Amino acid sequence: MKDIYKVLTNIMDKENIFQNEHMNYHTSFKIGGKADFLVTPKTEEELRSILIKMKEMNQNIFIMGNGTNLLVRDKGIRGLVIKLCENFSGYDIENQFVNVKSGILMSTLSKHIMKSSLSGFEFASGIPGTIGGAIAMNAGAYDGEMKDVIHSVRAMDMDGNIFELSNEQMQFGYRKSIITRDNLIVLSAVLKLKDADYDFIKAKTDDFTFKRTTKQPLSSYSAGSTFKRPEGNFAGKLIQDAGLKGIMMRDAAISELHSGFVINKGNATCQNILEFIDFIKATVYSKFDIMLEEEVKVVGEE
Ligand code: FAD
Repeated sequence: MKDIYKVLTNIMDKENIFQNEHMNYHTSFKIGGKADFLVTPKTEEELRSILIKMKEMNQNIFIMGNGTNLLVRDKGIRGLVIKLCENFSGYDIENQFVNVKSGILMSTLSKHIMKSSLSGFEFASGIPGTIGGAIAMNAGAYDGEMKDVIHSVRAMDMDGNIFELSNEQMQFGYRKSIITRDNLIVLSAVLKLKDADYDFIKAKTDDFTFKRTTKQPLSSYSAGSTFKRPEGNFAGKLIQDAGLKGIMMRDAAISELHSGFVINKGNATCQNILEFIDFIKATVYSKFDIMLEEEVKVVGEE
């Protein structure tokens, strides 16, 4: 551990290196054991040096954004978590094109985009992650998903090679992309939007915000929708129809507001949530013959 720390301090400022870091500080579920190291690089050069050195030292690497789609196991994460968030953010708007670094929050970016009277990104205003996480996951809501607005993505592989991918090359699918498939890192992206009237964009964004605040448990600890939408159905509806709305096992519960959200009432462990998820899946399967699949990413040492 000492060697790793020393190598990291040769690459980046000490203030951006965290040892034995509690992952519950970094996830919206407020769950997760300690990561051996968590680092928040500021530049692509730092990121590349970390990847190369940690590979030489045989260390596992996990890339995260704002931790809003993650369930980290109680034993934590061995190796290094690279968090690309505030330290790795920035944007530039030119005509209909928006150039963004991957760590910027979707909510922050959507405000700047609205001020520039550009439309197409309204769907993203309430998604609490970074643009990097949203691209990796092809995040979406209401009438849009990342696939609709991405012009191109600059990515890095785990050896530090950088390349550019077109929208088509991103192979976007339902909550997936080539980034998650091939274990790539989103560095930055160019979005292509449309000119529109500011009032139109504002009204649409306000409407989505109203829907979200009235229908989702935004003040509870969660990772959003726990399950993917099954073909031709809705996970929340199946869970509700199975009679599970609002039920609770230890501190793991189904939200009263939205049955698709598993929430941590305060002191749930990852194990509690995983057992609860298994129970929900088994109940729904026994009633409707449909096996729900997790949307939330479960990571860490088993
Ligand atoms: P993380 O949770 O940190 O990571 C998620 C995945 O992306 C991981 O596999 C990680 O390795 C990968 N990743 C993150 N950053 C990068 C990067 N720079 N390069 C490569 N891979 C990366 N999701 C929706 O799609 N629609 C919604 O409407 C929605 N609503 C939500 C509401 C709430 C209240 C919450 C808590 C979550 C919601 N989510 C929603 C889930 C989540 O916000 C999205 O999946 C989001 O895109 C995750 O971004 P993140 O930065 O938090 O990523």
